[in-house]
Amino acid sequence: MTKQKVTFFWFRRDLRLDDNVALFHVMQSDYPVIPLFIFDEDILENLPKNDARVAFIYDSLEKVNQELHATDSSILIKKGKTLDVWKSLLSTYNIQQIFFNKDYEPFAIKRDLAIQELAKQNNIEVFPFKDHVIFEEKEITKSDGLPYTIYTPYKNKWLEKYHLTGQALEYDTKPFLKNFIKQQFPFPDLSEIGFEKSTIKVLPHNLTQIANYKETRDFPALDSTSYLSPHLRFGTVSIRKLVNWANKKNQTFLSELIWREFFIQILFSFPNVVNHNFKSAYDGIQWHNNEDDFKRWCSGTTGYPMVDAGMRQLNETGYMHNRVRMVVASFLCKHLLINWQWGEAYFAEKLLDFELASNVGNWQWAAGTGCDAAPYFRVFNPEIQQKKFDEKGIYIRKWIPEFDLGYYEPMVNHAFARDRAIETYKRGIIK
Ligand SMILES: Cc1cc2nc3c(=O)[nH]c(=O)nc-3n(C[C@H](O)[C@H](O)[C@H](O)COP(=O)(O)OP(=O)(O)OC[C@H]3O[C@@H](n4cnc5c(N)ncnc54)[C@H](O)[C@@H]3O)c2cc1C
Repeated sequence: MTKQKVTFFWFRRDLRLDDNVALFHVMQSDYPVIPLFIFDEDILENLPKNDARVAFIYDSLEKVNQELHATDSSILIKKGKTLDVWKSLLSTYNIQQIFFNKDYEPFAIKRDLAIQELAKQNNIEVFPFKDHVIFEEKEITKSDGLPYTIYTPYKNKWLEKYHLTGQALEYDTKPFLKNFIKQQFPFPDLSEIGFEKSTIKVLPHNLTQIANYKETRDFPALDSTSYLSPHLRFGTVSIRKLVNWANKKNQTFLSELIWREFFIQILFSFPNVVNHNFKSAYDGIQWHNNEDDFKRWCSGTTGYPMVDAGMRQLNETGYMHNRVRMVVASFLCKHLLINWQWGEAYFAEKLLDFELASNVGNWQWAAGTGCDAAPYFRVFNPEIQQKKFDEKGIYIRKWIPEFDLGYYEPMVNHAFARDRAIETYKRGIIK
């Protein structure tokens, strides 16, 4: 029997039908289109069974599937090592084309190159698109073509280019959704993928308070930020729609979205930042890396309420307010002299919005080892941070209910730790 010629649309970090670039283009294909998602075993095997991010991906796919039902189509869900899954699809279908949106992480680039090679061997056309960012790869560079490593000139160039086009083009996919293949694929239970529901949930994003973003964003008790980060990570919202909206509503908020793209382009241009200091001059720092100290930091029992509240918020909810992320990261690297990579790995395990580019970028910023980083001699005082940003202790009491019963002594004296950090950095920095 001859196999039907088909085109595949491969969902990855773009779990939505609305304003999705590759999806818009696949709908112009001459062949019936099969929407596909692969639960990649290479990623899943390192995660706990109740990982909240897997549950969020699952719920988002279920939502996409419901929307597809309205057009008598459905999503094909597979689980396995990506290359193996594609090989088995090749034996089932006569695949003509594969469409997907690009992912700029080193692991994903390598994975996609392998799939492209397999496609080439089988005469399949592959169409990758830009969807995850406004400007990708080498679209924003210095006049000599090299990548920016300082945020402000990057942002200026980004804005200049954005305003040149008026706004980011949005893609209305609705009229074309009927072009998906009319077939009902079974939708597996989460348990069939090897996972279970989590008590930790991704919250809906909230843009109601963005008008006052500049004034309120640094105060964790106000809880006034957008909660967009996991949605941007998994593509349940469109960055183009968001940026066009932010440009009209609030420039400070837009600047934060540009920070996200800045770190994505840093990771793309300098992929070894994942495991190395961006500034190799900092390679000589003698980290103490004390495991007991690290455990106290992880469990939120350092005796510094702002640090402990942040870590407990992270452990209980998978989220931590940005101001507090800066305080806990600085505390780990500078007060405890623990290598930023330990903190980065702990955040990667816990954060619902974990994204390699932003996590590595911000950790290296806090440690002073990154591009455009906080200077090494800037050591946040956790008590002053608390006085400035949580004066009435509302945030602290929310996450440390026993706070008023008498709290732990700080595990290390601030003045001592500050001097020790500056001295250690000074000694370690290679001139
Ligand atoms: C040590 C450390 C680690 C971090 N790790 C991550 C991470 O793994 N994933 C992640 O998405 N963000 C990370 N951030 C950045 C920031 O803390 C979160 O993006 C933000 O707290 C998410 O909440 P929100 O969506 O309510 O933010 P909002 O304040 O509403 O900001 C809107 C969006 O702007 C972007 N943004 C804001 N601040 C930053 C920033 N400093 N760097 C890059 N993008 C930014 C995010 O996409 C965010 O969703 C980290 C920050 C620090 C200090």
